[in-house]
Amino acid sequence: MMRLSFHGADRGVTGSCHLIECAGRRVLIDCGMYQGGRELHEENAEPFGFDPAAIDYVLLTHAHLDHCGRLPLLARRGFRGEIVATSASRELARLVLLDAAHLQEEEAHYRKRKSDKRHAGHEDAPLYTTLDALNSFDYFGRTAVYGQPLELAPDLRANFLDAGHILGSASVLIEHQEQATRRSVLFSGDLGNAGRPLLRAPVAVKSDAVVMETTYGDRKHKSLVSSVEELYEVVTDTFRRGGNVIIPTFALERAQELLYFLREGREQGRLPDSLPVFLDSPMAISATQIFERHPECYKAETRELFREGNDPFHLPELQFTREKADSIAINRITGGAIIMAGSGMCTGGRIRHHLKNNLGRQEASVVFVGYAANGTLARDIVDGAKQVRLFGAEVPVRSRIHTIGGFSAHADQAELLDWHGQTSADRTFLVHGDEAVMGRFGALLRDTGVEMPKPNEVFEL
Ligand code: ZN
Repeated sequence: MMRLSFHGADRGVTGSCHLIECAGRRVLIDCGMYQGGRELHEENAEPFGFDPAAIDYVLLTHAHLDHCGRLPLLARRGFRGEIVATSASRELARLVLLDAAHLQEEEAHYRKRKSDKRHAGHEDAPLYTTLDALNSFDYFGRTAVYGQPLELAPDLRANFLDAGHILGSASVLIEHQEQATRRSVLFSGDLGNAGRPLLRAPVAVKSDAVVMETTYGDRKHKSLVSSVEELYEVVTDTFRRGGNVIIPTFALERAQELLYFLREGREQGRLPDSLPVFLDSPMAISATQIFERHPECYKAETRELFREGNDPFHLPELQFTREKADSIAINRITGGAIIMAGSGMCTGGRIRHHLKNNLGRQEASVVFVGYAANGTLARDIVDGAKQVRLFGAEVPVRSRIHTIGGFSAHADQAELLDWHGQTSADRTFLVHGDEAVMGRFGALLRDTGVEMPKPNEVFEL
């Protein structure tokens, strides 16, 4: 028997954390953070809904914060098992968790200073510290290789499959052999879309049950080709008007993909020859370096580019501004540059400075190329806010706002349906989506029992 319980991303997009108990083992699939504004601090700090010390394994589908972000907390609360991830995920998770810890330390410091001023004596500790993050790395054990099953118990195996979402991302198939009966559950992780430049397409296999993401379960993406066209047009047009192009970008995958397309556009003469690009994100810079170390994750064509010594992410006027002073120097540029910075949903990071400087400029453009959760600054701007609050000041929105959906690292409705069809699953558990979206997607599924688990809900398979 398999016992499945849900502890995050239940009728919501973030905080992925699912528990499967089987063959005397307790296996967690992801241990992600709830994201979307500071008010979620408390939600992240709540008890997990299971005993961390009793968990034997964490199988990490990928290194996005909403999938790995609570690992340091799990370790601090007693987890002593093994974390299994692909080699690329392990390196990226290290980067992501250290960054998250640092951010939380800074925010806690800020909260404390604010409350000291009010003499409230209110203390608000960070969710976890850099030391907690470092400690959690001790539990990373075996490296998962795509398509090579790992033994979790004599009759229990885990197989990591290409998910095509970000570098190192995987879907995880859990198989339990009990005498003559074989039971399996396939966790989709986050699924990417086929036809992207860097990664291979997601792989689906037959499984008795699936736990699957539904982020874009009600939407059809624009084609990637037309999205790239749109990006080129926005850049050309904005440069003509004399403004900057500001791109809030996720440090993993999106930043590298954009560099890839900007390089291509310039080489093909679609973009100006003089194309100053700033990657103003220490994390995206480090991520780009990790990308260069993992040819095993790429499509054959992209692997070939690397082998020939052509860096697919290199542009002549690309500047990596790791240092704060270099980042501040960008403020002086009023037009003719592409500025990419994090965070993707504008909840923190250097992008907020660039927005403060450029949102009020009619000649500037802000281009959203990723998911914007409810309650984030990115969503407010996308939804047409006339002014936004940044660093204590009201900033009017006069720049042009573009949302280019085709870059999504997530499968759209048709791709999710196709993936699901290939699994032939009898039971389907929908996670990682807004409740309404999930409901619409679930209604399209045939020949399968559909569940939309509530937090801490338990199912027996
Ligand atoms: Zn993800």
